[in-house]
Amino acid sequence: MSSIRHSTKRVARLRELDRLGRRMLFGTVSETYRTCGQPACACHHGGPKHGPHLQVSYRGDAGKTTGYHVPQVLADTVREGVAAWQRFQEVARTLAELNREHAWRRHAKRSAR
Ligand SMILES: [Zn+2]
Repeated sequence: MSSIRHSTKRVARLRELDRLGRRMLFGTVSETYRTCGQPACACHHGGPKHGPHLQVSYRGDAGKTTGYHVPQVLADTVREGVAAWQRFQEVARTLAELNREHAWRRHAKRSAR
């Protein structure tokens, strides 16, 4: 690979990280179904429970699992945000490898002089 093409690849990855970084959210999404506060509601008498309610959980600073409920209106944003986090990890890994190749290439150029 020429070093120009190599550098184009790195720039493309950096742009993708920038895009993903603006949307990404940390955590794992799960769906829960719950009973409501009305004892007469069907959900308390064998009927379907309310949901799905989106929940995001993640490991907090103290190593303890924590999380938050997601309002329905933000469900898509949160799902996309969590997917963006996963993709961010993959792209960062690829970029790290390109950076390593770049460093070796520069080293080889200097040594050749
Ligand atoms: Zn109910």
